Amino acid sequence: MTVIGLGPMGVALAEAFLAQGHPTTVWNRTPKKGDGLVAKGARRVDTISEAVSASKFVVVCLKDYDAMYAVLDPADEALSGRVLVNHSSGIPEQARNAAIWAAHKGVDYLDGAIMVPPQAVGHPDSVFLYSGPQSLFEAHEKTLLSMGGTRYLGTDPSLAVLYNTALLSLMYSSLQGFLHAAALVGSANVRVTTFAEIAIGWFLPSVVNPYLLMEAPDIDKGNYPGDRGNMVMNMTALDHIFHTSKEQGISSDLPEQLKKLAENAISAGYGDRNFMAVIELLKNPSK
Ligand code: NDP
Repeated sequence: MTVIGLGPMGVALAEAFLAQGHPTTVWNRTPKKGDGLVAKGARRVDTISEAVSASKFVVVCLKDYDAMYAVLDPADEALSGRVLVNHSSGIPEQARNAAIWAAHKGVDYLDGAIMVPPQAVGHPDSVFLYSGPQSLFEAHEKTLLSMGGTRYLGTDPSLAVLYNTALLSLMYSSLQGFLHAAALVGSANVRVTTFAEIAIGWFLPSVVNPYLLMEAPDIDKGNYPGDRGNMVMNMTALDHIFHTSKEQGISSDLPEQLKKLAENAISAGYGDRNFMAVIELLKNPSK
């Protein structure tokens, strides 16, 4: 294996290969970041061409796609015929362009996204997302599993990056929701640890997650029956969250934004539908 890029994540990937007994070659712009890997048995090389030539299977884990091109361009000749797995982060268009770039270079290219921190790399229950040619993924899945659990998403090379972005969006908005809720109860001197017990220990896994799983098939169908609670009813709840936030002296930005979304949904004719209908406005903001 070759691992290019030895930030915290690249080091973790190289360590995982070494731990699985794979002979591993490493390269980094700043070579000394590979000292610990050399002590564990990695072979450090001086040039990018040597690094690429050393292995059929090359993993790139750099800051972004621009860094990948900057690093790999001098290795032009050596790239042809390699399997390149790119774990540098970016946006979907960059992933699609990278697949085109790789095809021109004669490189078999998989785009990847790592969904865990460096300390979880190498564990089978960690999640690494992949997109690109299915046959390429299947041919190398055993090697990919050395880094962590694999999820193949499809042939469109941008899917791994898109899923990664979607999951990060979910994470940040969930964090904002939790922090707003913690600030609300905090206004009555409730500790975050006390609130987390009920919010994270019970509410999310027992109420929110099952509800979303139950609703997902209907959302796919664009079916939002409002017989067990419609948008107008949800507006009342959002109004209470908005006014309580104000009354308790904490930020009302989040409920205000949610209220606006529900108001727009009502104006767009979804007043008798359930709250999930707001996805229609999210998918098409001009509605
Ligand atoms: P960074 O995102 O900071 O990337 C560091 C690596 O990129 C180093 O090898 C650095 O080289 C190299 N680099 C940056 N700019 C250039 C450049 N212009 N030319 C050459 N090399 C360059 O560190 P991480 O290891 O944490 O992340 C690597 C990738 O993994 C990123 O895309 C990140 O988003 C992703 N990732 C990271 C996670 C984490 O928790 N760390 C989690 C999931 C994904 P040098 O050492 O010489 O500066």
